This record gives sequence, structure tokens and C-alpha cells, in this order.
Amino acid sequence: MVDSVWPDNNQCCVCLTFDVDAEWVFMGNKPQVARMPRMFSQGEYEWRANTIPRILDILDEHGLKATFFVVGMNAINHPEVMKLIREHGHELAVHGLRHEDVSNLPKEEERGRILEARKAIEGASGFKPVGNRTAGGELSLNTLNILAEEGFLYDSSLRGSDLPYRLENGLVIVPSYYEMDDFHLFADYPGTAYHARIMSPETGFEIWTNAFDGYYKYGLCYTTMFHPQIIGKPGGLMLFERLLNYIERFPRVWFATAEEVARRWIEVCGG
Ligand SMILES: [Zn+2]
Repeated sequence: MVDSVWPDNNQCCVCLTFDVDAEWVFMGNKPQVARMPRMFSQGEYEWRANTIPRILDILDEHGLKATFFVVGMNAINHPEVMKLIREHGHELAVHGLRHEDVSNLPKEEERGRILEARKAIEGASGFKPVGNRTAGGELSLNTLNILAEEGFLYDSSLRGSDLPYRLENGLVIVPSYYEMDDFHLFADYPGTAYHARIMSPETGFEIWTNAFDGYYKYGLCYTTMFHPQIIGKPGGLMLFERLLNYIERFPRVWFATAEEVARRWIEVCGG
């Protein structure tokens, strides 16, 4: 048997991540949503319905730590939520300044926005992010170099493997996957690209647990890409707990934050 790439010879890694988008998932590339009360309220729901505290409670009950990728504007507008996430011991990382498409931004403009988002999160929580997940579209050809130049440890925007991998510039990629994205299964927001996708929770459970079986068998890195405005709804929370209960039946699973995964991968690659 080949030695595991995970600490303590664990069979596989589970990296629970959440993208704190709220209203910016709609507004990032469409500022007029600020004047569309119903659309806007579907993002506001994230805060008003206390979706993040609900998720933090479940993570506490299971003794698990997660990574929250946060839109910079959300850190500016909701510093108390950022503090709460940190008080519960979770990692904060960058998810755009305004959940905007960066693919066509000039390099220095993009750098400025990434740094502003990191500063906003650090200002709100006291924690300086080392990770990034690009929001709102494609990466630019500069994104991954900007992150390396600015001292980020990892990026979680790419989909290029089932295990982390390291770029020539030193950045670690912690891959994320659409089939583990609750938006792609359950987000139904008429008037947006996310419409008519409400699946049965049974289907979600089947997709996520079937995927886990495979990641476990092959010793890979199972990374969720959940959103508090979806998985933090009452039914979503039931599904999230079912998923955790399912995974916890398996021995030798290493639950890790994305930062811990990235640091492990640097060890595996030999520094
Ligand atoms: Zn997002």
C-alpha cells in the first residue's frame, strides 16, 4: 500500500469551504441590483436569517474547522460576522472585492482590488488571509502571479486536479469543483444565470456522498463549495448535517481548512 499524502496516514482529506457572497453575487457585475428590492433581498437573506451563525453552530457541534471565502465589501459592511467566524476558529480568505469579474482588469487595478479585499478582511477580523478564490467569472492571466507576488499561499479557483498542486510561482492550488457547489444544485434566482436549478435534497445527498465515496477510495481532496445563502437555509442545513454524519462514519478522514491543505501540500512537495 502506498503511503497516504495526508497527515497521520489518513485516507482522504475533507476541506469544508463556504463562499460568503450574499448580495454581491448579484451586484458584483450588475450594480443596478441595489435598486431591485426583491433581487437584493435574496442576498440580504444571508445576514437577516443568520445563516452564518447557524452554520457555525453545526461546525461546532461536529468539532470541525472550515474556510470562509469572503467578498471584501461584506467584511467592510459586516465586521461583526467576520469576528464571529474567527472566534469560532475558522479561516477567512479573499473572494473578490465586490464579487466582480476580474478577467479583463489591468494588472495593477486587479492587484489593488485583491489587496483592498485582504485589508478589509484583516481590518474586520484581525486575521490576514493567505488564500484566494476568484469570484464572478474567469481569472485574468495575471491573477495567479499577483497572488504569488503578494505573499498568498494558495488559490482555490482552479479545477485542474483531484489533489492540490503547485504552480511554478510557488502558489498552491486547492481545487474546488462544481459538483460540490450548492449554487449549481439548488440556487434558483429568476433573472440571473442561477435559475430553475432546485433539485431534490436526495439528489444533492446522492451527488455529494457518491463523490465522497470516490474521493475516499482514491485518497483525494474533497472540497465543498457551499454558500450560506443556500446551504444555510433550513432545508440546506438539514442536508449539510446529513452529509457530515455520512462522512464521519468513515475512519481516517482528515478534515482541514484550505490553509492547512496548502501547508500540507508544500510539505509533500518538499518545501
Ligand atoms: Zn462567490
